[in-house]
Amino acid sequence: MSNITFTMIKPDAVKAGHIGAILAQINEAGFRIKAMKMTKLSMETAGRFYEVHKERPFYGELCEFMSSGHIVAAILEKNNAVADFRTLIGATNPAQAEEGTIRKRFATSVGENAVHGSDSDENALIEGSFFFAGTEQF
Ligand code: GDP
Repeated sequence: MSNITFTMIKPDAVKAGHIGAILAQINEAGFRIKAMKMTKLSMETAGRFYEVHKERPFYGELCEFMSSGHIVAAILEKNNAVADFRTLIGATNPAQAEEGTIRKRFATSVGENAVHGSDSDENALIEGSFFFAGTEQF
């Protein structure tokens, strides 16, 4: 069990003006922000971030979407961070997400699903260091 996870508020949620509401829900759930920035991914950077999905049929669509606008990237800290954050965001497809989860509240489709959350402790560390140098983590 690790106490770190990595998240992005995706372009759909940023464009719709949900940064503040999503961060409030993250804070209320007990996560501490260790690092945060707003940035924009190129197709190439999105492709590298999602390289594990490159054989999946939606890879191109995913990279286009993730580079279509600004994102907010953050490293979050809490006991049992990875699992608790996956519970907080809900299922990949918002139609199947629990009531009150971030994806249920803010996502519009399985692709444009408002937020990213790491799926393992190992990936949380890899993804966090993809965006943040050690000197940017507090
Ligand atoms: P997650 O761990 O819940 O984010 O889900 P996955 O690891 O399975 O997929 C990564 C991301 O790819 C998701 O969050 C979606 O943004 C996107 N994605 C997953 N399935 C689909 C799909 O069927 N179509 C499209 N366009 N995007 C998808």
